Amino acid sequence: MPSSGEVHKRRTAAVARGVSSVITSYVDSAAGGHVRDVEGREWIDFASGIAVTTVGNSAPRVVEAIRAQAERFTHTCFMVAPYESYVAVCEQLIALTPGAFEKRAALVNSGAEAVENAVKIARHATGRPAVVVFDHAYHGRTNLTMALTAKNMPYKHRFGPFAPEIYRVPMSYPLRDGGLTGPEAAMRAIDVIDKQVGGPNVAAVLIEPIQGEGGFVVPAPGFLPAIAAWARAASAVLIADEIQTGFCRTGHWFASEHEGIEPDLVTTAKGMGGGLPIAGVTGRADLMDAVHPGGLGGTYGGNPIACAAALAAIDTMRDLDLCAAARGIEQQMLPALRAIAPPGCEVRGRGAMLALEFVQPDGRTPDAARTAAVARACHEAGLLVLTCGTYGNVLRFLPPLVISSADLARGLSIVAAAVEQSH
Ligand SMILES: *Cc1c(COP(=O)(O)O)cnc(C)c1O
Repeated sequence: MPSSGEVHKRRTAAVARGVSSVITSYVDSAAGGHVRDVEGREWIDFASGIAVTTVGNSAPRVVEAIRAQAERFTHTCFMVAPYESYVAVCEQLIALTPGAFEKRAALVNSGAEAVENAVKIARHATGRPAVVVFDHAYHGRTNLTMALTAKNMPYKHRFGPFAPEIYRVPMSYPLRDGGLTGPEAAMRAIDVIDKQVGGPNVAAVLIEPIQGEGGFVVPAPGFLPAIAAWARAASAVLIADEIQTGFCRTGHWFASEHEGIEPDLVTTAKGMGGGLPIAGVTGRADLMDAVHPGGLGGTYGGNPIACAAALAAIDTMRDLDLCAAARGIEQQMLPALRAIAPPGCEVRGRGAMLALEFVQPDGRTPDAARTAAVARACHEAGLLVLTCGTYGNVLRFLPPLVISSADLARGLSIVAAAVEQSH
């Protein structure tokens, strides 16, 4: 097998520079909470391929489902010759997403594509143009989802012009909005919508119930319900982007459940496929079915191998009670991270979606340099972690939900040593 160094040299000559990687080692295998490179070096996995391998890498049931489906057929295109597993995934999405109302679902390939389709559906169903999004939001890298995303570098820089009719309003960000309560922060956002957009023009309000790339921002209690109530009153579609938060990650099937909100549409991807690319839009039947036949779809959407993997992953989540596992991870990690965090730095998150925001001693000024140094030290010591945040100053933790508590403890001690070294 070629060494990581050899492959890396070939990569530089073959792979576009715009596609970057966190580490320069090349993977040989991964399972449970571990990733192993071609040199036999092991990392504890606090990244899960960005919240994807929730059931663990190469989870046995997922592997068996993929193998069995690959032997039957690999692709017919659901729009040409349909198959049962696509229907079964939609039934699972309908059963698991919040809200007991009648729903429909549609399957696509990626998170960005799910968000694009949710916006298409909301605009079509309402006949309105405007989409409201929030500061620090991340919704993907396609043209529309870049427009929906807040952060310029690296996602948007020189990639415009962007899609029109996107309006950005302030998020509830307890560390950074001067102690506004959830309802106060919602009033601030709603005032901008009312004055600058106008409720009757709003097709959709699109929000991550806990922000992902934007910094694992957990809005103050009451923020999401107030936004949901405004959307309902304005007959605007509330779209919850649960692509990172969904499928047990935060200790519930969906993060919307923590605040008891029932979004009209929910976008899902990442964890739902057990590592295969699959995504969905699920929501109110009247909205979903407003679109004419042929208006939604795509060549690969709900590919049969990805559907088989998703059904096996969802079964695994249910059988192993991975929502409870996520709450257990929170119980073990939160106190440890609070003990590790330097004075003024904030530890936050839910379930196995936790973060440490690094600030200067003033308790406010972002410390991106320290965050990068801590992440680098973790990688060198054998722990895969990711950073995020508008200011690049948030270290985020997304372990697979099947990780052992011994591996969690080992990973946490690596974080502790890296933070200790970093000042
Ligand atoms: C990752 C992510 C997306 C985009 O998903 P892709 O599969 O990378 O296109 C959209 N929204 C949120 C909240 C995400 O975390």
